[in-house]
Amino acid sequence: MNRRRFIIQLAGITSATLLAPRMLLSAGERQAAIEKISKSEAQWKRILTPEEFHILREDGTEPAHTSPLNDEKRKGTYVCAGCALPLFTSEMKYDSGTGWPSFTTTLPGAVETSLDFKLVWPRTEYHCARCEGHQGHVFDDGPPPTGQRWCNNGLALNFIPD
Ligand SMILES: [Zn+2]
Repeated sequence: MNRRRFIIQLAGITSATLLAPRMLLSAGERQAAIEKISKSEAQWKRILTPEEFHILREDGTEPAHTSPLNDEKRKGTYVCAGCALPLFTSEMKYDSGTGWPSFTTTLPGAVETSLDFKLVWPRTEYHCARCEGHQGHVFDDGPPPTGQRWCNNGLALNFIPD
């Protein structure tokens, strides 16, 4: 029994209720080739706004319906606001109606996941595979073909139009 499964069983929840965490993990593991970026808290504070710092480095969540990226419809690439690693393309974006930029999948290996127990119900957190900046949470109520909803903080992303 691996540690992740053990934790899930401890929480009294079957792994089926979580979004295939093993599959998501393996996507992160495939990204082992990406060299990590490591900065001190002071260094991050110099390059990020206080709001970006709160989300990326303190696992914060921006208020719903506050990001201009909610309405971004142009073709382009969404990159990590911390290190500019491409995480999503405009083709992956859809309107989830939640008030946060939402995507059906990620670029291969661009993010890593972990279980987040901040709320009563565990959620699958994901973060940039390069700088480990928190991006959002992934849920299993997305549209086909993946059925996934990658619910992202707009402040954790920068949009680069084609
Ligand atoms: Zn990053």
